[in-house]
Amino acid sequence: MSDALRPQPKPGVMDIAAYVPGKSAAPAGVKLHKLSSNENPLGASPAAKEAVKALAEKMEFYPDGSATKLREAIGEVHGLNPANIVCSNGSDEIIGLLAQTYLKPGDEAIFTEHGFLVYKIYTQAAGAVPVSVKETNATANVDAILAAVTDRTRVVFLANPNNPTGTYIPFDEVRRLQAGLPKNVLLVLDAAYAEFVRRNDYESGIELVSSTENVVMTRTFSKVHGLGGIRLGWAYCPAHIADAMNRMRGPFNVNAAAIEAGTAAIRDRAHVERSVEHNAKWLAWTTDELTALGLSVTPSVGNFILIHFPADEAHSAAKADDYLTARGYVLRRVSAYGFPNALRMTIGTEEASRGVVAALKDFLK
Ligand SMILES: *Cc1c(COP(=O)(O)O)cnc(C)c1O
Repeated sequence: MSDALRPQPKPGVMDIAAYVPGKSAAPAGVKLHKLSSNENPLGASPAAKEAVKALAEKMEFYPDGSATKLREAIGEVHGLNPANIVCSNGSDEIIGLLAQTYLKPGDEAIFTEHGFLVYKIYTQAAGAVPVSVKETNATANVDAILAAVTDRTRVVFLANPNNPTGTYIPFDEVRRLQAGLPKNVLLVLDAAYAEFVRRNDYESGIELVSSTENVVMTRTFSKVHGLGGIRLGWAYCPAHIADAMNRMRGPFNVNAAAIEAGTAAIRDRAHVERSVEHNAKWLAWTTDELTALGLSVTPSVGNFILIHFPADEAHSAAKADDYLTARGYVLRRVSAYGFPNALRMTIGTEEASRGVVAALKDFLK
């Protein structure tokens, strides 16, 4: 059919490779252990569940379009001014809003080689040019990022820690990155996994947002809070950036269930602590066990690990994926992230962690 005879997407749209979420099905009759999307094996806070149940009786009412009580709860817990917080339908939406707000056709946005794929998608959706920068040992390299800056650069996206590698850069490196960027370039620090990091040299970026005019930190309720299905994220940003995003976002972008669930979840510090404790224990255990099997595991500070498979065809990541899936252990293929022979595994329950290790031991025999 001639292009003139039907609507045409704007230039660049058909170049976007749509995001492929983690699989969530096991073969019939096999118990599913979903380890493909970095979800919390302990589930959501009981308080958040109660809050959502109560909301069921009030669903006819529009939500508060500025999510005031949620921003106040986040502000209280993290010691932030609620006026500098913008909430969103997942932190993916914040990334999209920032791209739509700060990138125009011809501008460039920088992210790293194995960076979260959503950055590229939203950069292309804004008509801008994605610029991918090499990493060193699967870790962001500040000098390489700074070397890629041109006079068309408008945004730098950095997941710290990064998904799917689980690696991070220490705060003095983040500070050096900010200091080296032109003042008109926005630095987006995606701290989706910040709660899990237990390193003295890590900081999520709050201090840098407070003390500069060009840094935004994004957070999510999908990981440590176990609310992936509710779709809720937030950004902490300078006032001028919050002002711009509040003009660009949908008037009711955060739904009423998300406001209730998030307000309860952020205040349940005990659930966060339990989740972080569980993760720390089984992250270390799983890493050690898989390493002992002869597999190489990228050292992770998140709630997932990147497992690299041997070069021989019989023991490839694809074969391991089939083997594990047949037994109900659903991990994530990461070819699209530049790791054709690795799988990403979420740290799940004790049962799932032990199950994967036992299955991979058999697989490698
Ligand atoms: C999971 C994840 C997010 C969170 O996405 P939501 O839209 O909030 O569910 C953001 N950034 C990274 C790097 C992630 O891995």
